[in-house]
Amino acid sequence: MHRLIKKNIWTLFYALLLFGLALLVFINYSQHRNIVRKYETELRYLSESTRNTTFHFLMQQEMFLDLLGMEILQGDGKKSFEKLRDLFDHLMQINPTIIGFAVSDAEGRIYVASSNNDPTKLPNLKKQKESRETFLQALQSPHMILGRPYYLKPIGSWMLPLRKAVRDENQRVVAVISIGLRLDNTAVIWKNLIKPHTTLDIFIDRYWYRIFKSSHPPSKYPDLYASPLPKNFLKRVDRGLKEKAGVSFDTLRRSGRCAVLPFTSMEKEKLLVSWSYLPRYALWIHYHFPMSMIWSETLRVWSLNTAIFLLISIILYTLFRMIHRIETQRSKELIHQALHDHLTGLPNRNYLQKHIVEWIHPGAESFAIIFVDLDNFKNINDSMGHHYGDMILIEIAERLTATIRENALVTRHGGDEFIILVRESDGRRLEKISHSIIEAISMPVQIGELEFNVGASIGIGLYPRDGKDLYELLSAADIAMYRAKKTKNSFAFFTAELKSERKRDSVIEQELRGALEKDELHLLYQPQIDAKGRLHGVEALLRWHNERLGNVPPDRFIHIAEEIGLMPRIGHYVMERALRDIGGLQNRLDQNFCLSLNVSIRQFNEKNFIDKVSKQIEKHDVDRSRIVLEITESLFIEELESIVRQLETLRDLGLRISLDDFGTGYSSLNLLRRLPVDELKIDKSFIDTLLTDKASEAMVKAIITLCKTLGLDIVAEGVEERKQHEWLKRQGCHIYQGYHFAKPLKLEELEGFILSLRQI
Ligand code: C2E
Ligand code: CA
Ligand code: CA
Repeated sequence: MHRLIKKNIWTLFYALLLFGLALLVFINYSQHRNIVRKYETELRYLSESTRNTTFHFLMQQEMFLDLLGMEILQGDGKKSFEKLRDLFDHLMQINPTIIGFAVSDAEGRIYVASSNNDPTKLPNLKKQKESRETFLQALQSPHMILGRPYYLKPIGSWMLPLRKAVRDENQRVVAVISIGLRLDNTAVIWKNLIKPHTTLDIFIDRYWYRIFKSSHPPSKYPDLYASPLPKNFLKRVDRGLKEKAGVSFDTLRRSGRCAVLPFTSMEKEKLLVSWSYLPRYALWIHYHFPMSMIWSETLRVWSLNTAIFLLISIILYTLFRMIHRIETQRSKELIHQALHDHLTGLPNRNYLQKHIVEWIHPGAESFAIIFVDLDNFKNINDSMGHHYGDMILIEIAERLTATIRENALVTRHGGDEFIILVRESDGRRLEKISHSIIEAISMPVQIGELEFNVGASIGIGLYPRDGKDLYELLSAADIAMYRAKKTKNSFAFFTAELKSERKRDSVIEQELRGALEKDELHLLYQPQIDAKGRLHGVEALLRWHNERLGNVPPDRFIHIAEEIGLMPRIGHYVMERALRDIGGLQNRLDQNFCLSLNVSIRQFNEKNFIDKVSKQIEKHDVDRSRIVLEITESLFIEELESIVRQLETLRDLGLRISLDDFGTGYSSLNLLRRLPVDELKIDKSFIDTLLTDKASEAMVKAIITLCKTLGLDIVAEGVEERKQHEWLKRQGCHIYQGYHFAKPLKLEELEGFILSLRQI
C-alpha cells in the first residue's frame, strides 16, 4: 500500500509536471498568437489611418490645384502670367513643403513657373523621362496625378510632383499645373503615423515608384526613389499575398481591404507586412514591422511564463519530496514496527524470518540458535497482572542485549520466549554463554517495592548440524529447551534422543488430554512401615493405562500434565479417589493409618485450592491429622512466600506436610527452616547407594540428625533390602517405604497386605 503511494506520488508529480509543461506550451503558443494578432491589428489600424491621412492631404492639394486651374482659365496674356507667378511665390512662402509651381501647355512646355525657376530652363515635361508617363496620365485623368519623385537639378532638391490638367468647358486640356513637393518635407504628412520599428512605404500603382519611405536620410534617396520596385520582388509579394492572405493586388485594389501577412524581405529579414490601396490616387500603402520585435516581446512573455512554471515546479517538487519523505519515514516506521517487538524494542519473529538469510546461505559459517524460555514468568503474569509482566520482560530484554553483544542477534519470539543467534559453535563457549544468560536473568527484578525471581530454561541448536533452515533450527532449540525446562534454570543442547523423547512426549500430551474422561487413570497405594513392622500409612501413586501407549509411568506424564495445565484436575481426581478408597478401607478394617498424597506445586496456583481440599476431606470423613501432603522442593523456589502461606493454612487445617525427594534439587537448610513441614522423605537415590557409598551414608546420617533436631518425621524411600532397613533402623529412622516391604498395590491387594500384617 505504502509502496504504491510512494511510487504513485512521483507518477503524480511527473503527470502534473507534464500537464504543466503542456499548459506552458499552450499558453506560450496562444500568447504568441495574441502578440502577432496585436501587431496585425496595429498594422491594419495604421494602414487605415495612413490611407485617410494621405487621401485628405492629397484632396486638399487637388482642391488647391483646382483653384489655380480656375485662375488660369480666367486670366489671359502676360499680365495674368505675372499674377500667377506672384500667387505661386506667395503660396510657397506660406507652405514651405512646396518647392515650386509650373504651368505647362498640353505638350509639356512650361510657360509659367514660380520665381525660383526660370521656365526656359525647365525641361519639357512630356519629353523628360522622369515626368513623361505621369504627365500623359494627367492629360487623361480628371483627377490629380502623383508623379514619380526625381531630383530637380535647377533647385537642387528631390521633389514629389503633383499634376492636374486644366480643362475648358469643352473638356479640352488648356494647361497642366504641376506642384513640386519637397521630398524631405513630405514626412510631416505622416509623422503622426510613424511608430518605432514600423516602416511606411507608399508606392504608385502600376509604375511601382516609391513616393515615400519613412525614416531615411536624403543620401538614400537615389536608391529609394530613382527606380521602381524590382519585378521579382513584386512577384514574391504577389505570391505571398496569395499564399498567406488569400488575396491578390487586384482583389485588394477592388475591395479596399488591408492584407496583413508575414513576409521575408529582400535582405532576408522576417517581417510582418501590410498592403492596402488608395484608389483615388492609385497609391499602395505598405507597412512593415520586424518579426524580431514580435519575437522579442514573445520571448519576454515566454521567459516570464517559464519562470512562473519553474517556480511552481520547484514548489511542487519540494512539496512532493516532503510528502515522499514523510511517507518513506512512515513506511520505514511501519516496517520497523512490523519487524520489532513494541514492548521490548527487540527484533521480533518476522525480523528473524526476514534476516535469517544473513545467517543461512551457501558457505555460511556455523552458528548456534539459543532458545530462551523464562521459568515462572507465566505465574507472575497471571498473579501480578500484565503490568508487572511487561516490566519484567523489558528488564530481561535489556539484560539479554547487554549480556550478548557481538556477532549476535537477540529477538523476542513472543510471550516469554527469546531467540538468540550467536556466531559460535564451540560447546564450551556456548555453555559459558548459557551460564551468563541464566545468571543475568536469575538476578532478582526489582519493580517498585516488589522483587521478582525469574529463571530461564535454555535450549541450544547448532547450524548446520541440527537444522538446515530456520524452522528446523527453531524446533531443535525448542526440543533442547523443553529438556532444560524439566530441571529449570538450566540449558541443554539438542540431541537426536531428545528429539524422539520430545516426540513421545507430544503423543503423551495428546493422549493425556482425554485420559480423565476415558477413565484411564487409577491409583496404587504403597505401604509405609514403622520400626515395629506395623502399617504407618500409604502413599497414593498415580497410574495411567492408555490404549495406544500402554502403561505410562508418572515420571513421564506428570510434568507434561503440569506443563499443559492439567495438573489441578488430575490432582483433584487423585485426592478424591484416594480419600474415598482409603476412607472406605479404614472403615472396613476399623484401622487408622496415614494417607500420603503427592501434590504438584502447580496445584497451589489454582484458585481456591485450599477450600477445595478442605471440602473434599470433609466429604470423606478421614482423620485430617493423618493426611500428609507431599511436596517436592525443586519447584517452590519460585513464589516461596505465597506457597509458605498456603502450606501454613493447610497445616492450620490439621493437615501434615511432607518434603519429598529430600536431598535432590535446591535443598538448603535455610529453606528447610522457612518451610512449615512435618516430615522429610529421604530420596531413593541416597538409599540405593547407602551401603556402598560413604558420601551417601554420611548424607543420610546428617539428614536423620537434622530431622531429630527439628523434630521432623523421617521416611526412607526405596528401601529394597533388609540390610538397608536394618541400617536405617539403627540410625534412628523409623518409617520405611520400599519394595522390601511392598510395591505399590491395588486397593484390594492393600487390604490383603494390611490383613497379613495383622497376623504377624
Ligand atoms: P515419588 O513421590 O518419589 O514416589 C515414589 C516412587 O518410588 C514411586 O514411583 C514408587 O513406585 C517408587 N518406589 C518406591 N519404592 C521403591 C523401591 O524399593 N524400588 C524402586 N525401584 N522404586 C520404588 P512411581 O509410582 O513411578 O512415581 C514416580 C513419581 O511420580 C513419584 O515419585 C511422584 O513424584 C510422581 N507421582 C506419582 N503419583 C503422583 C500423584 O498422584 N500426584 C503427583 N503430583 N505426583 C505423582
Ligand atoms: Ca511422593
Ligand atoms: Ca520421593
